[in-house]
Amino acid sequence: MKIIAIGRNYAEHAKELNNPVPTSPVIFMKPDTALLKDNKPFYHPDFSEEVHHEIEVVLKISKEGKHISEKFAANYFEEIALGIDFTARDIQQRQKEKGLPWELAKAFDNSAPVSNFVPKTQFADLYNLNFNLDINGQSRQVGSTKDLIFSFEFIIAFVSRYITLKKGDLIFTGTPQGVAKVNIGDKLEGYLEGEKLLDFYIK
Ligand code: MG
Repeated sequence: MKIIAIGRNYAEHAKELNNPVPTSPVIFMKPDTALLKDNKPFYHPDFSEEVHHEIEVVLKISKEGKHISEKFAANYFEEIALGIDFTARDIQQRQKEKGLPWELAKAFDNSAPVSNFVPKTQFADLYNLNFNLDINGQSRQVGSTKDLIFSFEFIIAFVSRYITLKKGDLIFTGTPQGVAKVNIGDKLEGYLEGEKLLDFYIK
């Protein structure tokens, strides 16, 4: 499986990092070795002084497809989850300044914690999903999918023009504002429509 992630899909987050609001999706990938499941602890890597949390809604692709039309894209995911797109912001900043790729900042081991998946039919409106991240009991990121720049269907259509999507692939759909550094000892709790799905420690 592969993990595809969308950068800058919430305008307020793009602005907080002084990035332009995109007119076309920003895409990057993480390998399967980035996946961290079952609320296992995240061991802070020693190569970064500034690993940021980015809470995101994650789609699980349910069948193979390429050149999927936006109109039918909703048929390609049945379950959603919450994930954290851990980002070594110090490394990313250096890479961005040099115009270099982001993999070292985004694709490192365990950089993609993902919660259990829940059926999308559990939600009345996928574009009115409230989600939030608390750290040590304090609110850090609050988002709603109503603020997405590019919809889930648009993302699936766009990505599948270039990259075949396979069953089990994951798509991280972007983070709202409020990203910041995590520290060893932090407890992260992520909620989707009030239900706690993520609950793990930084070690
Ligand atoms: Mg992200």
